[in-house]
Amino acid sequence: MDVIDELLGNNNLFADALAEQHVDLRPARALAIVTCMDSRLNVFDALGLDEGDAHVLRNAGGVITDDMIRSLAISQRLLGTREVMLIHHTDCGMQKLTDDGFRAELEEETGLAPSFAIESFTDLDDAVRQSIQRVERSVFVPHRDRVRGFVYDVDTHRLREVS
Ligand SMILES: [Zn+2]
Repeated sequence: MDVIDELLGNNNLFADALAEQHVDLRPARALAIVTCMDSRLNVFDALGLDEGDAHVLRNAGGVITDDMIRSLAISQRLLGTREVMLIHHTDCGMQKLTDDGFRAELEEETGLAPSFAIESFTDLDDAVRQSIQRVERSVFVPHRDRVRGFVYDVDTHRLREVS
């Protein structure tokens, strides 16, 4: 059985145990979180969030790309979020490759040079600061006065703020 089939069974049990309810579309805590797709970071549990509390935007590395800015613009302008929390983490896959190396690998195997930036990084704190600056400098994101960045330690499960 595929993993997805197993998950469909899990969903039935999950839904059976819950009363039907409608939560408001606008995040109750007016917060957007940008983080990595890493499977070890359970954002809702790690931060004590409930469903309906916050937007969680994820990609490889938790990098502020044009598409993240697109989502943040929608999050703030249409759905009322005000604070932005950026979370990178220790032992990230994006520290284990280089832009040039991965780009060359893709081009060599597919014959196509990717149009997107790879956005690997070496220093976690520098990567967080870069992400903070990208949000703070984006004219498309109206609320930029409460943008904070953190590193999550996947072993200790603790957050450290990057200033
Ligand atoms: Zn990661």
